[in-house]
Amino acid sequence: MKKMEIIVVGGGIGGLSLALSLHQAGFKVRVYEAVRDLSPLGVGINLQSTAVRELVELGLGDALAETGIATQRLNLYNKFGQLIRSEPRGMAAGYRWPQYSLHRGRLQQLLLKAVRERIGYDHFRGGLTFTAFEQIGGRVRGRFHDRASGAEVIDEADVLIGADGIHSAVRRQLYPAEGGPRFAKQLLWRAAVDAEAFLDGLTMVIAGHFHQRIIAYPVAKAAGGKLLTNWICQMTVTDEAPPREDWNRRAAKDKILAAFGGWRFPWLDVPALIEQSPDIFEFPLVDRDPVSAWTLGRVTLIGDAAHPMQPIGSQAGSQAVLDARLLTAALIETANPVEALRYYDATRRPVMNDITLRNRSFGPEAAMQLVEERAPNGFVRIEDVISRHELASIANSFAAAAGLDVETVNNRLSLVHPGQQTAYQSPDV
Ligand SMILES: Cc1cc2nc3c(=O)[nH]c(=O)nc-3n(C[C@H](O)[C@H](O)[C@H](O)COP(=O)(O)OP(=O)(O)OC[C@H]3O[C@@H](n4cnc5c(N)ncnc54)[C@H](O)[C@@H]3O)c2cc1C
Repeated sequence: MKKMEIIVVGGGIGGLSLALSLHQAGFKVRVYEAVRDLSPLGVGINLQSTAVRELVELGLGDALAETGIATQRLNLYNKFGQLIRSEPRGMAAGYRWPQYSLHRGRLQQLLLKAVRERIGYDHFRGGLTFTAFEQIGGRVRGRFHDRASGAEVIDEADVLIGADGIHSAVRRQLYPAEGGPRFAKQLLWRAAVDAEAFLDGLTMVIAGHFHQRIIAYPVAKAAGGKLLTNWICQMTVTDEAPPREDWNRRAAKDKILAAFGGWRFPWLDVPALIEQSPDIFEFPLVDRDPVSAWTLGRVTLIGDAAHPMQPIGSQAGSQAVLDARLLTAALIETANPVEALRYYDATRRPVMNDITLRNRSFGPEAAMQLVEERAPNGFVRIEDVISRHELASIANSFAAAAGLDVETVNNRLSLVHPGQQTAYQSPDV
């Protein structure tokens, strides 16, 4: 039987994971990426245990362990650095797979290397920007602009998947009137810098509240016993939406120090971290309203193209990997790709739309805002401000909605296991 051919638009975390997954399942894949030579851009990103499980099943477990830090705890603090909650993460929480904090660019390079080695150098095509698709009979045609020559390149396949991020051109063809992302009136200043380890060197910290906070976590070992440390200072602003989101826009240190200069805690000196950082990037807090369909015939979306969300609860990278695996599973389950894409849409989209909306109200970090409102001047005992039960129920409600509870992740069947039963049942929608 002729192998199904699939075009993947976008070679980010989602698109590369999808390419590896489809290849593992025996499909013919070609990836088109707008950037000619991908350099390791970005700062920190987290992969939850559920996504690590999928990448381990793709044979990338050792590469992840060498590249990232197996995060053991998440600590939430108020703006004075007083501990609100400390929870175990990854294997320390009982998952059978670690949670990794990584440098996003290094993760992308790791995936790219595997794609090139397994699928072939010819099948990862950089420097080609997707412009449009057409569905003709039982096929879909993608049009790409060759940025070097100006020529148009056309490819045809059975399915085309938009994994082209928050400014997805595939999505734009589905929703031409949608406009730009929704600015949530907050700015994020982000950097990754070699620094002395804080706490045990394996902990992610979030301090502050909804309108002003710092997130920090180590993402890799660095020279001299230091750790490459990702930090994000985030705060509400009155500015209008900045120009189009760009992960490379530099920010001036003074602006950030003016707001966070007093945030010196016994466990982390935030202004010192800012001072040490050579390159700081400014990024607006954005997402998009959920849509009513990702699939149109032989075309669908994954990752940020499908459900761009605010970076709460460290979800975007992990959920892009899960999309890739669930879409692969749907394509394995049925010979009819149109049905498979419809099934993927009907089952996956409501879950991701829910997470996107939960993140607008601070997702699992809502406890920090409650503490700020109830004890704006700090506290002597956290139990007097918020009960353990309330803290646990906020965390557990989000974990269940995002498919992150330990039992689910540990006990579910493999999402993709060609030739064997998968967790995905035959499409019936
Ligand atoms: C340069 C960059 C840096 C980032 N840094 C961070 C970070 O530090 N921390 C973090 O949490 N998240 C970061 N993100 C976002 C994060 O990668 C995603 O939120 C998440 O991993 C989901 O991945 P994705 O594959 O859906 O989207 P992305 O990772 O954004 O990948 C989309 C890919 O599609 C390509 N593309 C876009 N338009 C077209 C087109 N028309 N034709 C062909 N290709 C196209 C892009 O070049 C990109 O490689 C970054 C994204 C980018 C693009």
